[in-house]
Amino acid sequence: MKVALITGGSRGIGAAAVETFAKNGYTVILNYNNSKSKAKALQQRLLAENCDVHLYKADVSDIAEVSAMFGYVSKYFKHLDVLVNNAGISCTAQIQDVTEAEFDSVMSVNAKGVYFCCKYALPVLAKCNGTIVNIASIWGVRGASCESVYAMSKHAVVGLTRSLALELSDFGITVNALCPPMVLTDMTSGYTKDEMSAFCADTGTPIYSPKQIAQQIYDIALSGLNGVVAE
Ligand code: NAP
Repeated sequence: MKVALITGGSRGIGAAAVETFAKNGYTVILNYNNSKSKAKALQQRLLAENCDVHLYKADVSDIAEVSAMFGYVSKYFKHLDVLVNNAGISCTAQIQDVTEAEFDSVMSVNAKGVYFCCKYALPVLAKCNGTIVNIASIWGVRGASCESVYAMSKHAVVGLTRSLALELSDFGITVNALCPPMVLTDMTSGYTKDEMSAFCADTGTPIYSPKQIAQQIYDIALSGLNGVVAE
């Protein structure tokens, strides 16, 4: 049995990743925080298609909840083949308007959450030469005007990926990151068509669907690569 845990699996890219891994025969642990009904609906739809999907509620910015989540994985599944650190939140504002609470919340979910999910997943990943896929962003490798906290948190994810790729190879664990540009999800639903066109022109990137990014996550998880930060 191959097991994958996907954080933020209730919506957007994470939900598409849950579906991709589940339909490829993985037992999937779908982590959600607030969107219980969406998580449940996705689970029910996939169970009806003979997939194996389990729900686990945890706020990835809460270390006690993260520790308990990987305790649950260890107890019921024994090992973990793939950890996808996908849960994330955005913040669009100029630096002079960003509050301490907004700063803390973005860094807690996007950087601290990824860090401690990696830490607490280690014992179960090490049992099977598991792999970690961190979802960073194009703003994890480039600067983003009016998204400085978000970009900072995603640069942290890239730094963590490169560091753990070196540090965890002794455990047989590989660590890679994906840096998607614009993906059509709730996170980007506030963008107008003109803003999307400007984004594509400025970055030289196309717009992706969650399903396309989910396939990239799946492909990099199975690639055997280590330390890759894929734009
Ligand atoms: P989304 O549609 O807004 O979904 C965000 C997901 O993260 C939800 O499932 C949400 O779960 C979960 N989440 C948020 N805070 C959480 C917490 N504290 N604990 C656990 N789960 C939490 O976002 P998305 O566009 O799919 O983004 C997914 C990832 O891709 C993020 O890391 C984002 O930064 C990155 N990304 C997105 C884009 C883009 O253009 N959309 C581009 C590059 C990178 P609940 O609803 O259950 O709370």
